[in-house]
Amino acid sequence: MIKNILITGTNRGIGFGIVKHLISNSPNPELIFAGYRDVNRSQELLDLAKQHSNIIIPIQIDVSNDESVNKAKIEVEKKLGNDRGLNCLINNAGVGKNIKFNDINEKNMFDAYRHNVLGAWRVTKAFLPLVEKVVTDERNVLQASIINISTNLSSMAMASTQSYFAYDYQCSKAALNMYTVCHATELAKSNIFIALLHPGWVRTDLGGRRAPLSIDQASKNIIDCITAMKNEHYGKLIDSTNGSKSA
Ligand code: NDP
Repeated sequence: MIKNILITGTNRGIGFGIVKHLISNSPNPELIFAGYRDVNRSQELLDLAKQHSNIIIPIQIDVSNDESVNKAKIEVEKKLGNDRGLNCLINNAGVGKNIKFNDINEKNMFDAYRHNVLGAWRVTKAFLPLVEKVVTDERNVLQASIINISTNLSSMAMASTQSYFAYDYQCSKAALNMYTVCHATELAKSNIFIALLHPGWVRTDLGGRRAPLSIDQASKNIIDCITAMKNEHYGKLIDSTNGSKSA
């Protein structure tokens, strides 16, 4: 099991599901740093954290804001102390406004890029030293890893057979894939495990009501999938509903 983990965007949706899954299945992680942006929208998470205050540490972190991310890093570092590092960072926070061709403008396209690409980069850059602290001489996803949550809607092959388009979301997630592959290639010798994960189509605010997967099922799939990741998955986009890889 992963010892110390940070997940962004855990006040609702898939992120909250992952926290609930981790806390209700043994062995529990030692510490779950549960990222949330706005205290007013995070009551359920904060209540859960109170019930498991020895494991769940809520961390206020707006992935689009340098100051917020740096403050969060200091908090996490303090809690981990000198002897511990971060074993897994899941960049889960994401946005999508379902922008159609005629509605594209600089603001809505950059907004998606700012959150979905630069958000993952900003958080990774800040927390990388804490992941580096726990690296061993073998690459192991449970020991030291960065998982970026993407989507199979980022796939160019899939887009050419689609009838549904969300330009802001799909373009920004395709960029997240490229960013992640570049970073994975750059860090290939570091023994930090880096991969992208598609959680399936999940019933959340973002996924909508018609999605076939419940948050509970998707969260279980995600943790099972991460736990099973091997070298062959390094730098790839893994579909947690079936373990297949692309990108
Ligand atoms: P939701 O819209 O339900 O939740 C999004 C989460 O991201 C919220 O916790 C939200 O917090 C947080 N968030 C957004 N912007 C920021 C920010 N700037 N800083 C910190 N947190 C932020 O989405 P899902 O749970 O469905 O999606 C989670 C991830 O899974 C996303 O990356 C998404 O692209 C991906 N995904 C989802 C699929 C689905 O079918 N649901 C399919 C494929 C991928 P707040 O409440 O403050 O807005």
